[in-house]
Amino acid sequence: MDKIKMIIDCDTGVDDALAIAYILSDPGIELIGITSVFGNIDVDSAARNSLSILELFHREDVKVYKGAEHAYGKGSYVRSNKSPLIHGYNGIGDVDLGTPKNKPEEKSAVDFIIESARKYKDELRLVFVGPLTNLADCIRKDEEAMKLAGEITIMGGALTVTGNRSIYAEANIGSDPLSAKEAFGSSLHLSIIPLDVTWKTLFRVKDIDHWKRINQAGKALYGIAHFYYVHELGGEETGGAMHDPLAAFAAKDPSIITNWFSCNLTAEESGRTIGTFGELNLKEKRHRVALDVDAKRFTDEYIKLVTQKLERL
Ligand code: CA
Repeated sequence: MDKIKMIIDCDTGVDDALAIAYILSDPGIELIGITSVFGNIDVDSAARNSLSILELFHREDVKVYKGAEHAYGKGSYVRSNKSPLIHGYNGIGDVDLGTPKNKPEEKSAVDFIIESARKYKDELRLVFVGPLTNLADCIRKDEEAMKLAGEITIMGGALTVTGNRSIYAEANIGSDPLSAKEAFGSSLHLSIIPLDVTWKTLFRVKDIDHWKRINQAGKALYGIAHFYYVHELGGEETGGAMHDPLAAFAAKDPSIITNWFSCNLTAEESGRTIGTFGELNLKEKRHRVALDVDAKRFTDEYIKLVTQKLERL
């Protein structure tokens, strides 16, 4: 069977790093590139962290492309006070992976995504797990190319639960609501993985304790995850939500989502994601939003695949 071609757009970030680890571990996926965006950390650090994770997995052949430095309509990026507490000052749980050998490419994230969509068409799956600034920029530049991509999956939003940036806003949407609104209002069909399901996929430290004994890469990945599991919700036993890994997993295997809700979403200035009132009675729905997940199968398969990969490094 042909491998699925995937690009992940991320603000790397602990759970972004764990999503990249999954993509590199699933034999059914070919990661053709990583694009970077501001979010959990500034875009340069996000790109550096992505390069470090690739190096950890001996995948220096995969290229990294830099995208937006700040939200649409904003002049600069300011990191939230909360982010270092969840992701560490360096974005990857304050685990020191050194300076990566490779640098980001000259080509921009937007150009790489658009060229890939035209080249691979429906073979390509795009996963956006940071603010939607790069996606909105791609749509603005070449919406027709973006319509050729096989599937576009987003981690973001909150429908039946409160946000994690504010009561209303999930962090990715709240970081750039104007870009989210533009992406949701475009002609693209989007699969959306919101907090409603990612809060159901908590990993505890003891679930991955064995990684640290496999090898240096396992020890590093354990350290990155451990920081987050202890700090996101405040305890080793509670664990941390696998926001971005679930989005990457669902992009390859949508059957992991057990309840998809069809609608036409929009994003308000507050970052709240809600149905577009004027499109309520439209027959055609552009978005499917995940409302329930087989969390046990996801957890089991994620840990199995990443453990097997680490053991082969
Ligand atoms: Ca992210």
